[in-house]
Amino acid sequence: MTVASPRLLLVEDDRALAELLSRVLTEEGHAVTLAEDGQRALHLALTGHWDLLVVDRGLPALEGLDLIGRLRGRGVAAPILVLSARGTTQDRVDGLDAGAEDYLTKPFEVAELLARLRALLRRHAGGSRTVRLPGGELDVAARRVHRSTEDDVDLSDRECRLLGVLASRPRQVFTRRELLVQVFGDAESESIVDTYVHYCRRKLGRQVISTVRGLGYRLGPT
Ligand code: CA
Repeated sequence: MTVASPRLLLVEDDRALAELLSRVLTEEGHAVTLAEDGQRALHLALTGHWDLLVVDRGLPALEGLDLIGRLRGRGVAAPILVLSARGTTQDRVDGLDAGAEDYLTKPFEVAELLARLRALLRRHAGGSRTVRLPGGELDVAARRVHRSTEDDVDLSDRECRLLGVLASRPRQVFTRRELLVQVFGDAESESIVDTYVHYCRRKLGRQVISTVRGLGYRLGPT
């Protein structure tokens, strides 16, 4: 399946680079919308429908990898390519663990960016996003965990978002505060995080989320 005019959200605060990329991406056939800071990008990404996101890592208001973690936690499934001046192996690993599909280090050749975006669109055409969990795979759109040895499990929206955020950075310990903000919004108390961790464990087994005493929660067994 080819997408006639992919809707692309470009998140880049460098005005000159943003203008250059907007022009070449539009020439390539993308319908480009530009966000110049992380908060604006978060709003646009959550309220619109996108086929691709290109996200600069160093952004005002909300850093690029935090932005991606929040989007993945809320079920935004579009493929994301990160642009960054930081190009060590660890930087790339951090970007991919945050939920990006691809990572390109600045400076880059425009032709390579375009080729990588075409590859992302091909891989994601018609597909739905799945998240790897201990003992199974979470289909975010269907809110269902497919397990290899047991029956599938259906999740509520909040259970799905909680697991999505934890799985967006599988090795990271999240504080209850971070999970409250990313999954439930600021309005409620941190105890709701414990409640939903309990619900997820009841459905999927204790090993799905571990408690890191004094710090918070992390995906997977202790
Ligand atoms: Ca930047």
